[in-house]
Amino acid sequence: GKGIAVFTSGGDSQGMNAAVRAVVRMGIYLGCKVYFIREGYQGMVDGGDCIVEAQWTSVSSIIHKGGTVIGSARCKDFREVEGRMKAAKNLIQRGINNLVVIGGDGSLTGANCFRNEWTTLVKNLLDKGEISSEQANKCEYLNIVGLVGSIDNDFCGTDMTIGTDSALHRILEAVDAIVYTAYSHQRTFIMEVMGRHCGYLALVSALSSEATYVFVPEFPPPEDWESDLCKRCSEEREAGQRLNIIIVAEGAVDRNGNPITCEMIKDIVEKRLKQDTRITVLGHIQRGGNPSAFDRILACRMGAEAVIALMDATPNSEAIVVSLNGNQAVRVPLMKCVDRTLGVAKAMQDKDWDLAVELRGRS
Ligand code: ADP
Repeated sequence: GKGIAVFTSGGDSQGMNAAVRAVVRMGIYLGCKVYFIREGYQGMVDGGDCIVEAQWTSVSSIIHKGGTVIGSARCKDFREVEGRMKAAKNLIQRGINNLVVIGGDGSLTGANCFRNEWTTLVKNLLDKGEISSEQANKCEYLNIVGLVGSIDNDFCGTDMTIGTDSALHRILEAVDAIVYTAYSHQRTFIMEVMGRHCGYLALVSALSSEATYVFVPEFPPPEDWESDLCKRCSEEREAGQRLNIIIVAEGAVDRNGNPITCEMIKDIVEKRLKQDTRITVLGHIQRGGNPSAFDRILACRMGAEAVIALMDATPNSEAIVVSLNGNQAVRVPLMKCVDRTLGVAKAMQDKDWDLAVELRGRS
């Protein structure tokens, strides 16, 4: 059977375990040898106990757990060719030439890089006598399939990334809780949610919690946002509201690209409106807790499809990500999605807000 390895890399997200489980079970079902790689690329470079063969039961009772039970890490070594050489050796010695990488755009880019230089790595290892020609022949090509695990929904090419829905559940629980105390004391609450480059969490939580105002990175507020914000807040109070909720994405900026922080907003609301104002930064709570039903099922579907895509791979097929498109699991070229994702970041850097919104909207 084919050798497949699955690993999680970069920031963790809820639902990653469900994806790992689906890859392991679909792989075994189709007669493959499936391995876990612990601690992401670091485990691949280190080898040894970090790469272990998985059994059907090794993934029992993990579908409901948050985070990733096989660990995730950021890895400097893998950015250097020597590190990738070690990683290749560890894989080839175990007969692994199919990878399912579960991570964000950085992790997927790393995987693509690895795949592009694979032939050279194999040749070098063979020349150095680190692998046998039989091993080299079995692993002549490296097949890669990516699954996007990220709470931010910051990847172009998929409707939803694994973890986003659970993070939204966490945020809404927090906002709903805060609303009661805000109501009681007629307060304004400013809540910071994750999303350094992507306003999805902020936007969707604002819409579903009836927030007064939202700040996102891709679509800055009007030039004179201070007055606009104060006008909206006081209008709501005059209409009988006892509170205001303002949601701020971590990466919120003004039209000149300068950060808009919770402290700045608090200052303005207090000075101009004399409202009692508090800040709540949700932080890693958003990445915690159990995955939602949606994320579990999404991850199961993506994981199963990833293995099938690896079975279909030919030497000429390009690296792909399995994504969600209108409730269908579809395969899309990995680098095309990464490039589009980087395109949004560039548009924001260039302060071309129309382009940023357009590219993000295409999902
Ligand atoms: P994310 O996958 O969440 O975007 P990072 O950008 O931190 O997270 O990437 C995770 C890991 O992927 C890095 O620590 C590194 O080991 C690997 N990686 C990222 N980009 C590259 C690259 N261009 N070449 C090789 N490895 C990379």
